[in-house]
Amino acid sequence: MPITILDYVKSVVGDKPLYTAEDCLTSGVDIIGGCQICGATIGCYNAYPSTTGYWRCAGCIGQDGFATIADFTAHPSMANCPTCGNADTISETRITTSEHAEEYALECGDCGEVWQP
Ligand SMILES: [Zn+2]
Ligand SMILES: [Zn+2]
Repeated sequence: MPITILDYVKSVVGDKPLYTAEDCLTSGVDIIGGCQICGATIGCYNAYPSTTGYWRCAGCIGQDGFATIADFTAHPSMANCPTCGNADTISETRITTSEHAEEYALECGDCGEVWQP
């Protein structure tokens, strides 16, 4: 099976007997969400991040999951807004970093935050 959101949380906060909502927040993921395909409510322990950037349940993840944490974190669509945490409305943009330089940045369509990954 591909990795779950909880596997990712574990990789960020380390091994613990119990994972809390705070651990999820620390890792930049939600504690609960919905499956992209069937709409089932899923928690981080049974939510599978897919290459589309959305969560899926165990029945819907199919071949679109990530085999390893490294694959997951390397995937650009998994960027989360550092301000509101939203991952669905991130778009690429360019910002002026000095008089003559422009650099790649990400912009949150939800709260308007712009940051450099
Ligand atoms: Zn599903
Ligand atoms: Zn935001």
